[in-house]
This record gives sequence, C-alpha cells and structure tokens, in this order.
Amino acid sequence: MTDKYVLVVGGAGYIGSHTTLHLNEMGYRTIVFDNLVSGHESAVILGDFVKGDLHVISDIEAVFAQYDIACVLHFAAYSYVGESMAHPRKYYQNNVAGTLNLLDVMLRHNVLDIVFSSTCATYGAPVQLPITESHPQLPINPYGASKLMVERILQDYGHAYGLRSVVLRYFNAAGADPQCRIGEQHDPETHLIPLVLEAAARGTPINVFGTDYDTSDGTCIRDYIHVNDLAAGHELAIKYLSATGQSAVFNLGNEHGFSVKEVIQIAEAVTGTSIDARYCARRAGDPAVLIAAADLAKSELGWRPAHCSLSEIIETAWEWASSRPTSPIQ
Ligand code: UDP
Repeated sequence: MTDKYVLVVGGAGYIGSHTTLHLNEMGYRTIVFDNLVSGHESAVILGDFVKGDLHVISDIEAVFAQYDIACVLHFAAYSYVGESMAHPRKYYQNNVAGTLNLLDVMLRHNVLDIVFSSTCATYGAPVQLPITESHPQLPINPYGASKLMVERILQDYGHAYGLRSVVLRYFNAAGADPQCRIGEQHDPETHLIPLVLEAAARGTPINVFGTDYDTSDGTCIRDYIHVNDLAAGHELAIKYLSATGQSAVFNLGNEHGFSVKEVIQIAEAVTGTSIDARYCARRAGDPAVLIAAADLAKSELGWRPAHCSLSEIIETAWEWASSRPTSPIQ
C-alpha cells in the first residue's frame, strides 16, 4: 500500500460508500468525488470528500491537482433499468460522456489504474447459465448498453494509452453495513429488497413485475450479493492492478439465483410479517434470469464472499432500515 490516495468517484452512493468505508478500515486513504445528485454526503463517514461533477472538467482537474492519486474507482452512474428504457439520453450522457471526461483527466495526470463498476446487465438475456465473463454481451436495456460502452472504451484506451482497468460486473447488490452505519438509500427506491422491506414495515403490498417468465415460479431470478462483498472485491481489484499491471474482467455474484417470490418469502421470515404481493405486468428491460459464475474472481483475486445466505443479506438490510430515524418499523 502507498501513501497515495484512492479516488472514489461516486463514493457517496450505495456501493461506493460501502467500498470507501471498507478501504478506510483496511488502511487506505480515500477521497470521494460525488455530485450528490443521488449520493449522500452523510454516507461518506471516513476519508475526504469533494463535491464535484464529471460533466465539469475543472471539478475533476481540481481533485487531481490537489491529491496524489494512485488509482480510481469509478462508481458514478445512473443505474435504474426501468428509467433507462424511458430516458436513454440521461444514461448515455451521464454514464458514457461523464466517464470520457474522467478518463481524459486521468490520462493528463498519468493516473492509469481504474476499477470500473460494470454490471450483469451488459449480458442481456442469458443464453447459458451460470453466466461466465465470456458470455455474449448483448444488453437489452440502455443502462446495460451504457456500461458495455464504457467497458469497450476502457479496453481500447488500454491498448492505445496504457490504461489498466479491472472491470467488475456486479450481480444484484443488496444488504447494508452490519453495524448499520450506512445502507441503501435511493430516492426514488426501485430495488426489490428495500421495497419488500418497506412493504413489510408499512403493511402495504409489493409489486411483482411479471409472473409469466420461463422460471420455476414465473418470476424473475436474480443473484443477490452483499454490498460488503462487493466492497472487498474492489480492494482485491486494486491489489490485482498494482501486483500485475494487467487489465481484467470479473463477475461478482453469489452464484445462486432467487426468484422474486422467494425473496418475498425470505423477507417474510426475516421480518416476521406477512407481505402482500400485487402481481403486475413485466417491467420493460428485465431479463428472466441472471446468475453469476464467479470462479474467476475467486481464483484470480482470491475473492470469497462472506455473506452468502440471502436471509443474512436481507437481515442486514432490515436492521439498517429499522435503524433509520424515519423508519416506520418500531
Ligand atoms: N422487482 C419487482 N418489484 C419491484 C422491484 C423489482 O418485482 O418493486 C423485480 C424486477 O423486475 C427484477 C428483480 O425484482 O426482476 C430485481 O430488480 P431490482 O430493481 O432490484 O434490480 P435489477 O435486477 O433491475 O438490477
């Protein structure tokens, strides 16, 4: 480890803030750069914070002028599948154009190591399960397409300019810091687990998007991975870059799928409540099943997810939700 800083772009968001906390606990020095459009400054509880926007080059330049940066972690992106179908411009502008600005400044300052938050949404509808990193990438929504574009840019910048990148394709991030210091707080919230827990707390129904998928119970299957396991994956990616100087791509997932109905059942057990499901039409842009093969991250990075049971993952999310001042859970 050096005295240099890790720049965490988008570090006030859900996965970025858990990663920043983890890195500080492991002895890294971090600066979070975030425009706070969807992030929360209060989620950056250790390390430095700079408010700035990837669309304002002088904001990015200022942080690179002030700090000696070894490596960049790039989380800043819009990430709602449904919204991306309705507002693709927003996704390409932010996720792709913003990244190009960041890369320009990195190259100008000769900072060549980046860990990029990509997604299983780059694979589209799987033709083979579980999904390995070599699975075809044919995204079916603009969110996934915008992330795939950045993956391609990183690859091309690697060949042309010597940029070194580790691309982490996350499956479905879930859960919260087990000490309840930070957790998932999107506004609006669109993700299944926090919405199911809110339904449990309020006694309101949860919308289930689609019951006619080609799955065992007709609802979509996802691979839920604890946010702290993603955080640990980033630390290993930083080490991988400094040890090998090589670019690489890794899936991060639990290698186990749960249907929407199963998630609701497990949430009922965790919360001790009965949750009403309201069956709705499919949400545009959703593939039926996404389950990771994560052998590569295990063998190359030495990554070992620590929170493998979905009920444990949901428990951490429930504890976080219950600890919030505005919580309806008493
Ligand atoms: N989902 C649902 N009801 C909701 C939110 C999500 O049925 O209120 C479904 C969604 O269609 C998908 C799964 O839950 O099949 C996970 O969705 P989420 O938005 O949490 O993550 P994504 O897979 O889109 O990244």
